[in-house]
Amino acid sequence: MAMTVRRWEDQTALVTGAGRGIGRATALMLASKGVRVAVNDINPDTARDTVEEIRRRGGEAVPAVGDVSDEADVTRIHDGLAADYGGADIVVNNAGVILSQPLQDVSVEQWDRILAVNLKGEFLNIVHAAPRMVEKGYGRIVNVSSIAAKHGGGFLGNVAYGSSKAGVASLTRGAAREYAPHGITVNAVMPGLTHTPMTDAMSDETRARIISGMLVKRAAEPEEIARVIVFLASPESGFITGETIDVDGGATLD
Ligand code: ADP
Repeated sequence: MAMTVRRWEDQTALVTGAGRGIGRATALMLASKGVRVAVNDINPDTARDTVEEIRRRGGEAVPAVGDVSDEADVTRIHDGLAADYGGADIVVNNAGVILSQPLQDVSVEQWDRILAVNLKGEFLNIVHAAPRMVEKGYGRIVNVSSIAAKHGGGFLGNVAYGSSKAGVASLTRGAAREYAPHGITVNAVMPGLTHTPMTDAMSDETRARIISGMLVKRAAEPEEIARVIVFLASPESGFITGETIDVDGGATLD
């Protein structure tokens, strides 16, 4: 069957939570391939910073500031992308918040916020991006889960976070099923310990304990996660869908 080869240069990507960490690395990497990148973050300063860095390197970027858990913000962002560029061809659902404390001490408000940003935010960006992808018969959606989804938060005490990220893995499979007839793939990465501002906040002791359980005895650099996201976002990855790829230095073998 003949396949249309899409060029990176003809595509627009929305990367959420792209002000720092994995999201920023992904935005920079996509832009370096020629993709126009809409840089989302709830923090306008870091979003602006990523946009400026992309432009400094000769790439194309626009800010898309907003809260991924707020449907009005998500609607505004996707309507803007539809009007200006015909919608996003690639959506990377990366925005996230972490909470490290025992489940017993998690307040209802904290639980709701973790689930709202990490899971509802991905749902909203999928359903708001998909109609334009369906029109084009093409789309790449990449969700960022976490190995916390598998080990129940473990000694980090991030059970709420792990629960939200397990939801992301299921959302990925369900969305893959639903959108497959329209040429849209939906996949996820499950990063392990990654060197980002989120994990820099960890104590040295916690970091050492995590590393002792890994085959590759170090934290990943954000670019190592971004590289897998970019592969899943590429036109060449069309035969992979509904998949969640561990990028965790061998922390979870199953
Ligand atoms: P990671 O390890 O995933 O890179 P970081 O904490 O370094 O984690 O980055 C997560 C990014 O997501 C931050 O830039 C943060 O501001 C952003 N973010 C958090 N909550 C939201 C939200 N509700 N909407 C958009 N972006 C958000």
